[in-house]
Amino acid sequence: MTSPYDLTREELGVLLEDEPRYRADQVWRALWSEGKALSEITTIPSALRARLVDELPKALSVAHEVDSDGGMTRKYVFRLADGATIETVLMAYEDRVSVCVSSQAGCAMGCTFCATGQAGFERHLDAAEIVEQVVRAQHATTQRVSHVVFMGMGEPLANVDPVCTALERLHADFGLSARHLTVSTVGVVPGMRRLAAFDLPVTLAVSLHAPDDELRETLVPLNHRYPIAAVIDAARDYAAVKGRRVTFEYACIEGVNDHVDQADRLAGRIRGMRGGAHVNLIPLNPTGEFAGQPPDRERINRFAARLTTAGVTVTVRRNRGVDIDAACGQLRTREKQNRDEKSPGRASGAGSATMVP
Ligand code: SAH
Ligand code: SF4
Repeated sequence: MTSPYDLTREELGVLLEDEPRYRADQVWRALWSEGKALSEITTIPSALRARLVDELPKALSVAHEVDSDGGMTRKYVFRLADGATIETVLMAYEDRVSVCVSSQAGCAMGCTFCATGQAGFERHLDAAEIVEQVVRAQHATTQRVSHVVFMGMGEPLANVDPVCTALERLHADFGLSARHLTVSTVGVVPGMRRLAAFDLPVTLAVSLHAPDDELRETLVPLNHRYPIAAVIDAARDYAAVKGRRVTFEYACIEGVNDHVDQADRLAGRIRGMRGGAHVNLIPLNPTGEFAGQPPDRERINRFAARLTTAGVTVTVRRNRGVDIDAACGQLRTREKQNRDEKSPGRASGAGSATMVP
């Protein structure tokens, strides 16, 4: 089934070839520049509107929707046509509106602290399913979406082609600046190299979480395949090719990776990157099967200060939407558990993604 966001401008022209020529432009503008749903395009005849709604159904339906942070954060669980579910988060700030999208239903990478990783892999998303998350979030706000981050469910660089197509469409059709599109990767080195060769200078974020292979292997199983040195090499090359600063993400886990000596070793590994070395510290959001806890603020600040002294710039991410399980995969997991509790005997886990609307 084709959704409105599968079609290129040319394909929309073919679909509307019986209509006056200006119609395709009108529909295209409303869909992409104005971010409207087909049903909201009141400038076209109602019969045509009904035909388009029928022929181009949305790929996502809302399974669950919840607000937090005084309405500044909204989280969606969307159900896809085949029943798989994904998460999308809309975050409003003073100076920007950001949408966090999923690139896969589930994730095969199995990072031990991540709710999505704990639940396993269901399937890749196609480009239209990725793009529609942004447009649907746009429908919920009068402010224009300005940033998109691939930090929802899934590993974007394990699904590179659809992700690159989605990036192209978000840039060329939805109108976002390439530098406001951020792809976060756990360190899929071949994917990082593909992204470096991709036309758009999108922002790259690399989830590191540890300064040594021994520790990183316990958090990120993919480290066995692509150890820290290889990941940092690929990040260095990306920064050099694109002339863009790469960000390293670091989920802070009390007593595991938050010692000041670890900050020194981390700084030693990433110093001298083109555009400067930058670390984004994320206090761990505790997840079901992982025993780790976030450090207190003082400990995080000490770690951050040590990085700064070593010449690395640092931001500490505010935990948005903790009260609504906004960390990657958490809300979906909660929904699944609720469903399973209500339906004893029903299969649980990956492959049985079912939600109660
Ligand atoms: N797969 C990609 C992108 C999705 S995860 C990646 O791993 O980079 C986006 C970010 O959320 C990653 O930095 C990831 O490590 C982090 N994350 C996942 N679970 C978390 C948790 N429970 N607490 C804090 N950060 C978490
Ligand atoms: Fe996948 Fe990223 Fe979660 Fe790791 S942290 S399991 S790569 S979504």
